[in-house]
Amino acid sequence: MKIELNKRQEQILQIVKDHGPITGESIAEKLNLTRATLRPDLAILTMAGYLEARPRVGYFYTGKTGTQLLADRLKKLKVCDYQSIPVVVNENVSVYDAIVTMFLEDVGTLFVVDEESLLAGVLSRKDLLRTSIGKQELTSIPVNIIMTRMPNITVCYKDDLLIDVADRLIEKQIDAMPVVKKTEKGFEVIGRITKTNITKAFVALAKDDLL
Ligand code: ADP
Repeated sequence: MKIELNKRQEQILQIVKDHGPITGESIAEKLNLTRATLRPDLAILTMAGYLEARPRVGYFYTGKTGTQLLADRLKKLKVCDYQSIPVVVNENVSVYDAIVTMFLEDVGTLFVVDEESLLAGVLSRKDLLRTSIGKQELTSIPVNIIMTRMPNITVCYKDDLLIDVADRLIEKQIDAMPVVKKTEKGFEVIGRITKTNITKAFVALAKDDLL
């Protein structure tokens, strides 16, 4: 959605603010244009939420500012539209192998699963660094010794709102969350939401021309 309006759309908005409810016909008259010429602009203003159209009454101004409209849109974004593929390791792999996986897969957070592929824990960059500066043998320590484990993992679901997830990332001071599916046995990891996904959504929203 383009939040920036062109000159004619601004004029229409002003006319509706001053004279609404007003028919498309009357708006066209005031601008010395045909109803057909105005149709795309009216459609854009209506879809963007600036105007509302009522049959036989006409257009009226919703009173929403650009910022409110942007916030409305932001609050509709869902996890499933922005999530990435999760990178998981088994809880028995060594810290050394987890570090290698983190580099090869180019992620900052690994999710740890048990033998049944259910979520068991989370490994962040600093979890691995902390272990690396100790004197331990990294190839012989399994990740389940050092990971943050269930039930202390903050998870989200594919239908959650992205804004709520962003809020929880900040509140919990973490970089990522597994997107999970609940089963009788536990959580299946189906995706990953990180601060990067949130940043992408933020930029997409600003650039969006969907209208
Ligand atoms: P880093 O510590 O590398 O900057 P984070 O801020 O994501 O990365 O992690 C901080 C701590 O929180 C780490 O110990 C990590 O294991 C843990 N952690 C990361 N993500 C989660 C999560 N979704 N739920 C619970 N704990 C997490």
